Amino acid sequence: AARPLTGRTAVVTGASSGIGAAAARVLADRGARVALLARRADRLEGLAADLGDAALPVVFDATDPASLDRARARIAGEFGRVDLVLNNAGVMLAAPFADGRTGEWQRMIDTNVTGAIRVAHAFVDDLVAAAAEGRPADLIDISSVAAVMAFPGYAVYCATKAAVTHLSRNLRTELGPRRVRVTNIQPGLVATELQGHVDHPEAVAMLEDWRTALTWLTDQDVAELVAYVAAQPWHVNLPEITIMPTEQV
Ligand code: NDP
Repeated sequence: AARPLTGRTAVVTGASSGIGAAAARVLADRGARVALLARRADRLEGLAADLGDAALPVVFDATDPASLDRARARIAGEFGRVDLVLNNAGVMLAAPFADGRTGEWQRMIDTNVTGAIRVAHAFVDDLVAAAAEGRPADLIDISSVAAVMAFPGYAVYCATKAAVTHLSRNLRTELGPRRVRVTNIQPGLVATELQGHVDHPEAVAMLEDWRTALTWLTDQDVAELVAYVAAQPWHVNLPEITIMPTEQV
């Protein structure tokens, strides 16, 4: 198989399941070394065992800045400079707004927004340095169609994803001129563990209706897109990409 990402060094947050795990596999398959970041060490070690020397499992909590500092140091020590960041860790919790689940709101904001901002910042110097040497450098943020669509029960989640999309747009104004590509990917429904954390009966029922009404994307579908973006020549950037199940409108 072609290995267009040979020589690249990637960091994937949320690599323990779903889109992040699938993307880590595809990036490694295409030749990249991949640091696997998430909280569940057992999952990361299982994936790393499959990927061999190309993988570095690093336990990391997106809501804890000290954990990011440690992860950053570990990756620098083992792999050196990073030139691809897949900013993917996220949580989706849904319930009627009036229920006032403030703890869940805070968790989504801390993980999806503050965590993503911190991860981007932790590796921005690496990306700029790689680009300055004429190498491809990518910041790929996983947002969602939730950034632009609206659903009952998802106000705070949708707001966090709108923030991620606008973060990417704005970072691109600083990083594009420095030859770092910023890509924002907005998937529609993808069958992963993400939906499993929803426990409000109305929200669970809505997800179940969607599940039976249409064929969802797989994590592999999104992973292939990530690899495609990263494999472009350095001067080609896909700033914003929506990927939807055909039947989701
Ligand atoms: P999963 O639940 O399968 O994966 C989420 C990943 O994020 C896990 O690896 C999880 O690892 C990690 N994560 C969650 N909280 C933290 C934390 N505090 N610190 C570190 N890692 C964390 O779902 P998906 O693969 O679907 O989600 C990936 C991204 O895709 C998310 O940003 C999601 O919003 C987005 N997305 C998903 C869609 C879908 O329909 N599935 C649609 C559009 C966007 P661990 O628990 O081990 O820490």
